[in-house]
Amino acid sequence: MKERKWISKTDGIVLGILVLFAAGFLLWRAVAAQPGMNAVVTVDGEAVLQIDLQAAVDAQSYTLENGVRLVAENHTVRFAESDCPDGICVETGALQKVGESAACVPNRTVVTVVGGEPRDVDVIAY
Ligand SMILES: [Zn+2]
Repeated sequence: MKERKWISKTDGIVLGILVLFAAGFLLWRAVAAQPGMNAVVTVDGEAVLQIDLQAAVDAQSYTLENGVRLVAENHTVRFAESDCPDGICVETGALQKVGESAACVPNRTVVTVVGGEPRDVDVIAY
């Protein structure tokens, strides 16, 4: 039987090109998204809150049921307060571009910035 590595050099190149294409497509989609920017907040994989960042200018704070506090201002959103021991979410700072996200793993809370018009939270599937 001829021995074969699980991935050949050619396969690697093809895979690389595919990954580039996928990344390019995602980037294009993010850039070409219609005006509008929303922060989608999920807890345990379920969307619990959506913040219209396009409209967020003055600081507004949102407290989730799990005690995590988010602040949206100047079209950005950030974790302002969390009782998690690591505090990584707060350190992540403000999210300001479509595609950016921050997570508080101990509180199973994820904030992702998406483009486009506000939509019903149930459209977003994880
Ligand atoms: Zn955290």
